[in-house]
Amino acid sequence: MSHPLLEVRGLSIRFGGLVAVAEVDLTLNHSEVVCIIGPNGAGKSTLFNLISGIYRPTHGSMKLEGKDITGWPAHRIAAAGIARTFQSSRLFNDLTLLDNVLIGMHTRTRSGVFDALLRPATARAELEAAAVRAGELLHAVSPQLHARRHTLAGALPQADRRRLEIVRALASEPRVIMLDEPSSGMDDRDTDGLMADVRRVMAERPGLSFLIIEHDMRLVAALPDRVAVIDYGRKIADGDFSQVRLMPRVQEAYLGQ
Ligand code: ADP
Ligand code: MG
Repeated sequence: MSHPLLEVRGLSIRFGGLVAVAEVDLTLNHSEVVCIIGPNGAGKSTLFNLISGIYRPTHGSMKLEGKDITGWPAHRIAAAGIARTFQSSRLFNDLTLLDNVLIGMHTRTRSGVFDALLRPATARAELEAAAVRAGELLHAVSPQLHARRHTLAGALPQADRRRLEIVRALASEPRVIMLDEPSSGMDDRDTDGLMADVRRVMAERPGLSFLIIEHDMRLVAALPDRVAVIDYGRKIADGDFSQVRLMPRVQEAYLGQ
């Protein structure tokens, strides 16, 4: 029997008196793009923090390909194949583009600090191989970023920073990539480039899925297979955007802003 890639059931978290995420059910299938939309403060980023293990849920469960990952710490969830970006950029500005991608690989490279001390030659060989893979990955997503691989990430314009974060997430060879408002700070042309990146990455990696928090309705109308709407921590709709956008509850959530 084949399981959904990611299955979240009744997920909830309470901060003091505030239930920031309430009884959310969400399924992500293989090779699927799902967008999460909803007003500011609805609980979208908190849902990502739960799925990536940054917060422990007060209630509910999470399964990755049928395996229970509820309560796992963030590093273990990342190693299991869930990668993410943050709403505010978290690149290392003083490192090159290539080194930023290399850091994304660390959840999957076998050598740790002890290996580097005990088996320096092997560790160095693995690092060099990883640098080659990082360069190839950068080139596959964006030849323009690859051409600038030795410059510092701090010098990149906003849209390229967002693209680099996606390459870094990809470097861990994840099964799920979660993007938190990837188009923020982008104009329409950059957003089209972002959608093209996601489609290209999906085409090259069968089975990989994206969960994307988004507010740009052009992207939401064009990119995902399905849209889930969150309002006051609850999921109020899930389905085709063409249908979801007409639902009275969804329209109220947006008009209420
Ligand atoms: P969104 O991403 O949909 O704009 P968030 O998930 O960032 O919304 O926030 C949802 C609610 O949870 C907000 O009211 C926010 O203030 C609250 N919240 C988020 N994280 C914490 C936290 N660590 N402690 C207390 N409240 C929090
Ligand atoms: Mg947010």
